[in-house]
Amino acid sequence: MAAPNHDALLTALSTVQDPEIHKPITELGMVAELSADEAGRVSVTVLLTVSGCPLRDKITHDVNAALSAVEGVTSVDLTLGVMNDEQRAALKGKLRGGTPDREIVFARPESLTRVYAVASGKGGVGKSSITANLAAALAAQGLKVGVVDADIYGFSIPRMLGVERPPTQVDDMLMPPEVRGVKVISVGMFVPNNQPVVWRGPMLHRALQQFLADVYWGDLDVLLLDLPPGTGDVAISVAQLIPTAEILVVTTPQQAAAEVAERAGAISVQTHQRVVGVVENMSWMTMPDGSRHELFGAGGGQQVADSLTRLLGTTIPLLGQIPIDPTLREGADQGSPVVLSNPDGPAGAALSAIAAGLAGRQRGLAGRSLGLKPQRN
Ligand code: ADP
Repeated sequence: MAAPNHDALLTALSTVQDPEIHKPITELGMVAELSADEAGRVSVTVLLTVSGCPLRDKITHDVNAALSAVEGVTSVDLTLGVMNDEQRAALKGKLRGGTPDREIVFARPESLTRVYAVASGKGGVGKSSITANLAAALAAQGLKVGVVDADIYGFSIPRMLGVERPPTQVDDMLMPPEVRGVKVISVGMFVPNNQPVVWRGPMLHRALQQFLADVYWGDLDVLLLDLPPGTGDVAISVAQLIPTAEILVVTTPQQAAAEVAERAGAISVQTHQRVVGVVENMSWMTMPDGSRHELFGAGGGQQVADSLTRLLGTTIPLLGQIPIDPTLREGADQGSPVVLSNPDGPAGAALSAIAAGLAGRQRGLAGRSLGLKPQRN
């Protein structure tokens, strides 16, 4: 009997991907040793990026399954090792693909990732719920999606999306946890025991820079940033770090809320960012008799869209209105976004439609304030 073909074994291993990096383990330098004897017994050593690799069970299962399927293989003896510093540095270099340390790839002019900064004037209007649901809906539509939860006062994205583990650290590179096709990094992953975050501007700026530059995001179609409410430091940091980020303004129908939301959108005049549109949340509640009860009044979303249109001199659309829907809150509490758990309900359907509109957009210059001023003679 001949030993299983070495190339066939390697080909089988190349179908196994690192669950965090989404590239074949054979390309990542993770296969350290591979041999087989004439009795069909395969011996393989796979090097994990870090010893506490949270996904070791998945790698073990996938390697065993892939090798066992090769003709002539009778048993698989898998040893899991850990990369040494040199091997990790080589991996990091490979992942960066020649990008210098600390560069934010999304800020490159040729980047194809659309970056949306989700902003609101005040808290509690549903900004995080909308961010989490748009992310889940865009991923369900087949896009590669990342979320940066930079809402230091109310970080809630991991819970809403059902993220249960922290990022894996490979040297100074962070591998974001991924759920339902959405990669997530949150301020909340870096503060112990749910403590309040008291960071001042410069610290926030550095944290955001780290989230954008030191996290291995891979190739993303869309990156959503959940900003703290208001028009503060983080919005300006985003504009500095990713000038091409577009702002999505969230408001409720209430007049008072709309006025503060306008201010959050108006910051784009100073930062020369584009406003993608306005989403009105908590627009109405459908009563048992089918009528709409407008709990928080009406018209706030359109009002913000109209006034930003006047201010920016370009049409800022109202992208959608999301009704009040108890299943949205239930889904958030259970880590199961309503766009997936109740897609045909009032909120699920409205959010999916907004996501579909965003998914179809191309990047371009239209609608971006270029900051040009008339010359005085
Ligand atoms: P923000 O990020 O603006 O502070 P959240 O997304 O945390 O707001 O939402 C605040 C609360 O309102 C949460 O408990 C959320 O579940 C609930 N909520 C948001 N939008 C809706 C909606 N359309 N229907 C029902 N509950 C909602």
